[in-house]
Amino acid sequence: MSEHLEEVRKQLDTVDRRIVESLAERLELVSKVAEAKGAGAPSLRDREREEEILGRITESARAVGIDESFLVRLYREIMDHSLRRQRALLDDESSPDDSPDILVVGYQGTEAAYSHVAATRHFGALGGDIVYRGYDTFGQIGTAVQEGDIDRGIVPVENTTAGSINDVYDLLAACDLSIVGEEVQVVDHCLMAPEGASLAGVRTVYSHPQALLQCSQFLARQVHARAESYTDTAMAARKVRDDRDLSRAAIASEEAARLYGLVVLQRGIANQAENFTRFVTIAREPLTEAAGPGSKTSVVFSVRHEGGALAACLDVFARHGLNLTKIESRPRPNSPWQYLFYLDFEGDVADENVVDVFRELAAHTTYLKVLGSYPSWSREDRRPARPRKAVRRSDSRTEGVPRVVGAAREDTKDAIAAALERKPYRLASRITRTTDTEIVVGHVVIGGARPVVIAGPCSVESREQVFACARIVSELGGDLLRGGCFKPRTSPYSFQGMGYEGLDLLAEAGREYGLPVVTEVLHPSDVGPVAEKADVLQVGARNMQNFSLLKEIGRSHRAVVLKRGMMSSVDEWLSAAEYILSHGNQQVILCERGIRTFETATRATLDLTVVPVVRERSHLPLIVDPSHACGTSRWVPDLAKAALAAGAQGVMIEIHPEPERALSDGPQALRFDAFTDLMAEAAMARS
Ligand code: PEP
Ligand code: MN
Repeated sequence: MSEHLEEVRKQLDTVDRRIVESLAERLELVSKVAEAKGAGAPSLRDREREEEILGRITESARAVGIDESFLVRLYREIMDHSLRRQRALLDDESSPDDSPDILVVGYQGTEAAYSHVAATRHFGALGGDIVYRGYDTFGQIGTAVQEGDIDRGIVPVENTTAGSINDVYDLLAACDLSIVGEEVQVVDHCLMAPEGASLAGVRTVYSHPQALLQCSQFLARQVHARAESYTDTAMAARKVRDDRDLSRAAIASEEAARLYGLVVLQRGIANQAENFTRFVTIAREPLTEAAGPGSKTSVVFSVRHEGGALAACLDVFARHGLNLTKIESRPRPNSPWQYLFYLDFEGDVADENVVDVFRELAAHTTYLKVLGSYPSWSREDRRPARPRKAVRRSDSRTEGVPRVVGAAREDTKDAIAAALERKPYRLASRITRTTDTEIVVGHVVIGGARPVVIAGPCSVESREQVFACARIVSELGGDLLRGGCFKPRTSPYSFQGMGYEGLDLLAEAGREYGLPVVTEVLHPSDVGPVAEKADVLQVGARNMQNFSLLKEIGRSHRAVVLKRGMMSSVDEWLSAAEYILSHGNQQVILCERGIRTFETATRATLDLTVVPVVRERSHLPLIVDPSHACGTSRWVPDLAKAALAAGAQGVMIEIHPEPERALSDGPQALRFDAFTDLMAEAAMARS
């Protein structure tokens, strides 16, 4: 038995070696691609090709029975690393004098702290000899770069939970340094302890105060444990290792657990599921070559003490069509009530357009300093690619549906505008905004040219069920995962949903498969807590005129799907949207889900008539839910395609691994094979 084990382990070692060798071979080829593209390459990232690669590897994965989403995750890492290697090679080529044999990089903290993890990810792709040096403060890093002790520094500028890191902004103003790169690091806090410890046995949790704050909700649930501040996350992990006390744990990165031989008791414990830190890399000199089309530029300026000076500055950027990605103000040193503005925009100092902007800015500023142009890793177009599926097509109808969206003719426009003027809603109306509103949720754009597919079970029923749904939605290229946790059931004796336990499962499945999640909220007091976990809220048909719920959702920062009430007119529906909009939340997605008519052959009557009508009256995205309208799964696919043909900007479909066992709305849920066919048929409308 043990001899056999030995033998299998040897074989495993051989396989691992082969994997590493293959990765090395792949990197070699990637370098050749970079050479072929050359320094002037318009863009290193070729999203279409990435999608194709992911599509192909998922096909192969399916053929050999490997979990596709696992392989997609793995390949995204591999492609990301390749891209960094290409970028590094080209930067190297364009500034040969600037590339020392050994690159010395300074970061704040100790090994396995998040800054160190970001540094190794960013510079590791260079492939050469790199020495990483930890410093206690950001100021020390700045001085070390300025004095030539180190070649590069890497410093965090903002965190998506905690906000800007002021000390770093002040450092950038005070020192003569250039920003030459950017890095975005996922901060995935883990609770770790020595081998043998259990979550229930933890009494003290050590970490950096920021990390403790970011995990406050998790910590509040650990009633027997108290939190204690420590210098940095990685040092807290080291302390826990040294103490060898099973009641002590640390919050730090997974890398820290590995480095200090601790076991991770729980992952993903931060209050906000998505937690990122953006870093910039600094050098003494700016990059000598243009950073390329995917680049960003950072500037710092102060404005003249004149009315409208800041607006005039911002207007210069707007007139030149430059997209601002961040603006931050800090007190100007030694000048009470005066401010420095830090601004990032998409563009490169080498662009003529940008040169003009700086010339014009000078007229409105008392101080202007360019901090640098650099390849960006946080721009919209840097989103990870999705696999492009060669989906199995049904035999009969292989043609997709042409999308025909009605456009008002010139001579009718005035009449439409006059009619809209008399409506009881304004914010929802095209009177206020003529162009279509696009709502961005994670990587998904709702209301853009490409229709979205939202799919999932009526109710979250179990981990297995919601994970199976998430997996098929992700594999078929769907965009969002739906799942009800609080169900508005007609009978009080029907299944009412799993509540917050279901929401946790839904959120976890969405995270696992890279899908933002949509869930219905029934009560105003649930809006806040549900919004912490769900990416999109839903107001159900039965609640369309629940005005206290609408007002509360209006105060939320989450996008919301507002279903049309079963007996509501278009004007009532848009007025309900107005409730949400007028309370602040502008991210409303309208959803037609069928209305009650004399017809009893179907659960409701899908009113596709309203699609062109609502698209004409409102700029808000409009999607259609055929499942609740017809109530019978076999009619759903044709209605979904009809909705897209009529100009709906997406569909919401109920699916279930075993519809006959569903706890709610089983008869209308598509089985996975039927959903697969529908996705293939809808593919043309979505490409
Ligand atoms: C649902 O989406 O599961 C739902 C209850 O929908 P509606 O409010 O449209 O009935
Ligand atoms: Mn339902």
